[in-house]
Amino acid sequence: MADTPREKIVIIGDGIAGATAAVAIRKVTQEPDITILTDEGEPLYNRVAIKDFAKGEKPDDKVKIHDLQFYDKNGITLKLFTPVRNIDDQNKVVVTESREQFPYDKLLVAAGGSPRRIAIPGGDAENIHKFWTFVDARHLKKAAEEADQAVAIGAGLLGIDFAAVFGKHGVETKYVMRGDRWWREGISKQGSAIVEAALAKLGVECVFFETPKEFTVDPQTGVAKELVTEKGTRFPLDCAGVAIGLNFHLKMLQGTRIKKGEGILTDSYLETSVPGVWAAGDITQYYDVVLERVNMNGSWSSAKKQGEVAGLNMAGQKTEFKHVDVYSIDHFDFMVGSVGSVVGEWDHEGVIAENSYLRLVGKGDRLVGAALMGKAFVLQGHIKKLIAAKMNVKEKLSDMVKPDFDWKGYTKDLALPKE
Ligand SMILES: Cc1cc2nc3c(=O)[nH]c(=O)nc-3n(C[C@H](O)[C@H](O)[C@H](O)COP(=O)(O)OP(=O)(O)OC[C@H]3O[C@@H](n4cnc5c(N)ncnc54)[C@H](O)[C@@H]3O)c2cc1C
Repeated sequence: MADTPREKIVIIGDGIAGATAAVAIRKVTQEPDITILTDEGEPLYNRVAIKDFAKGEKPDDKVKIHDLQFYDKNGITLKLFTPVRNIDDQNKVVVTESREQFPYDKLLVAAGGSPRRIAIPGGDAENIHKFWTFVDARHLKKAAEEADQAVAIGAGLLGIDFAAVFGKHGVETKYVMRGDRWWREGISKQGSAIVEAALAKLGVECVFFETPKEFTVDPQTGVAKELVTEKGTRFPLDCAGVAIGLNFHLKMLQGTRIKKGEGILTDSYLETSVPGVWAAGDITQYYDVVLERVNMNGSWSSAKKQGEVAGLNMAGQKTEFKHVDVYSIDHFDFMVGSVGSVVGEWDHEGVIAENSYLRLVGKGDRLVGAALMGKAFVLQGHIKKLIAAKMNVKEKLSDMVKPDFDWKGYTKDLALPKE
């Protein structure tokens, strides 16, 4: 009797979501063939830690997570330098740019996104950096080591990484923002002022209400020399970094029945509209059972957990993705971060000690998230519990942003969400 062919699982992306999914499947079963396709040239590394590498604070080998032997040992085939062109969901085949075909029984799309380019003249000059891969980090580190002056663009959680990398290398840096503060989505001017002061200590000057118009480029060398803004202000530079959002890798879905919105739409089990196809990580727009709405996260912890959940579901163990997201930044001598969603119907904020800021965000009478700095950062666990419990917090709000609020007592009967 002929052997039944082994089930084929294909995973697109060897980031934390894709790699975690493969391991989660292997923990349950040795049965299926697992193949991971990645357009990168190296196995999984810690994408969050590339900023410490670029700052010169972490060596190369502390950023790497898996070596090639890891995949061999776990019976996982890793295909480096293998960009996927498209998915044929009718015939269940993944097609690469070189037209190689990978048939699958089950598919995971964990392809994340890439930094959006800045659509202004000179924006593609070689010394205008993006920051997503380890290769980007190596270029950025070298540029920052050699630069005297730099410009950082992008007033969000990734833009500040450029400012910090330049600052840590002693580069005189202008951090140019269109609005009136850093991380407009997450914090008020009160919170931004704390971060601005910390950046100033690194030699980074925040410049507000300036919109980039063009980089003037030396025609001989192709190198950008200055940033010119809409107002006509000129910022000389040796290099610049741009972080103005991500484009998710959705092109490969064209012509498939896999539904997409801003990302790939999934249910709370991370399965897409096409049975047998899952999504995990940054690219996933999933139904969030905690916040009770469709949601997207852009964080390491979420991508890792989603990889695990998708992997378990692909291995036949029905598991729901229940997660309260966290994000943290450690560029200063105090932490900055968020829990849950920083966008809601109302907010309430306070400074609870020096460099310690708390902004609570809610919807209806419940908490959906918070932005936290310094001492407030340790409240993450309490806030997670309140979000997961969907508790009515309205009457306590003004007390909660006071320095002496009894968080332990308030959340003592609540459990952390079971993730
Ligand atoms: C500089 C930096 C700092 C960060 N700091 C933090 C932080 O402090 N805290 C935090 O929580 N998060 C942080 N993040 C975000 C975090 O790293 C991401 O949310 C997380 O890595 C997403 O994982 P993922 O597996 O979903 O996607 P990715 O890590 O993007 O992996 C997707 C993989 O798919 C590959 N791929 C894409 N398209 C194709 C294709 N067509 N064919 C084949 N392969 C493809 C990509 O090359 C990539 O290797 C940071 C990210 C960066 C870049």
